[in-house]
Amino acid sequence: MGPWERRVAIVPEDVSKLTSRHIRLLIQSGAGEGSFFPDSQYASTGVEIIKERNEVILLSDVLVMLGRPTEEDVNTARQGTVFVGMIMPSLNHDLANLIAVKKLVAHSLELLPRTSRAQSMDVLSSQSSVAGYRAAVVGAFHSPRIMPMLSTAAGTIRPAKVLVIGAGVAGLMAISTARRMGASVTAYDVRKAAGEDVRSLGANFLELGIDAVGTGGYARELSADEKEKERMLLEEAIVNSDLIITTAGVPGKKAPLIITRRMVGIMKGGSVIVDITAESGGNCELTRAGDTLEYHGVKVIGLSNAQSEAQVNASQMYSRNMLSFLSVLISADGIIVDPNKDELLKSTLVRPQSPISSGRG
Ligand code: NAD
Repeated sequence: MGPWERRVAIVPEDVSKLTSRHIRLLIQSGAGEGSFFPDSQYASTGVEIIKERNEVILLSDVLVMLGRPTEEDVNTARQGTVFVGMIMPSLNHDLANLIAVKKLVAHSLELLPRTSRAQSMDVLSSQSSVAGYRAAVVGAFHSPRIMPMLSTAAGTIRPAKVLVIGAGVAGLMAISTARRMGASVTAYDVRKAAGEDVRSLGANFLELGIDAVGTGGYARELSADEKEKERMLLEEAIVNSDLIITTAGVPGKKAPLIITRRMVGIMKGGSVIVDITAESGGNCELTRAGDTLEYHGVKVIGLSNAQSEAQVNASQMYSRNMLSFLSVLISADGIIVDPNKDELLKSTLVRPQSPISSGRG
């Protein structure tokens, strides 16, 4: 993960749930510091603190992490070691191939199916909710306006206009957070079904006449014509918004480009765009991951560390997701389960990849 990563994969309060199942736990010294869980808290629950990362890797049968192992981790690990994290093999081909060459096993939890059995392990949902919340808070902080309507002796201030693009897990959280702050919220998603969720949160849903549902309930990538239509029809809402939060994504693909440089150029000065898809390319043409830039008075914030800025709760949720997954991966008598014996294990297996070919438009 990036240098800004402050989360930890297992929090001290969850340790006993693993040790009670006869799992011996090791942690790299200082891994919890960024989330305010010092080594002493882990040590007091019986976790062995190991100084060097390489040593943790060599001593462990299963390695639980936030993101993905480094190339060095993979080269260090013993044959048969199991990595669990968010490895994103479709974006990290070389790493996926190296894992296979080294005869290691890796489970990437963003590959879990969105089924009720997998819900408690759903890292995408837990971490996206935090990102959606942070996006609304960061956007309000950077806006030169207040979010709610105010009626005072000095006149009436209208509520800020917030547009949320992409109404999945993160988008819905951004909508409810912005609504709680008193903003007037409008949202758009290419899945028509998202309209019901949006309205139930008291926001308006934009109907653009596009319904693009793909497999597993996710959105599919739009055709070139649909993309053009989307940009054209969204332009009015984009230009009239005080704060835009973009969360639109299609699994395994670069984030769709929705807000062009030209559109940013005609937005009102003082408007803010918070793009939580920055790490996968961004929904705004000007987005730079981890950076904030200003273009014609509009701030474009490429939010790439949203979860790490709410790291205490993001770690707690991630840790619960991991416990749930480990309860499937490791049997009650401490044996690592054959991935082919369980559909959740099988679905998360990182497999070798062919060379990258991802487009963008
Ligand atoms: P995501 O992060 O992949 O995408 C975010 C949103 O962007 C999605 O709602 C998607 O429809 C939308 N989007 C994609 N392209 C777009 C475009 N060009 N313009 C506008 N919006 C666009 O998705 P997610 O938040 O992980 O969730 C996606 C789906 O999975 C939803 O249907 C959600 O309800 C479902 N889900 C199910 C479960 C479960 O059953 N356990 C858990 C979580 C999510």
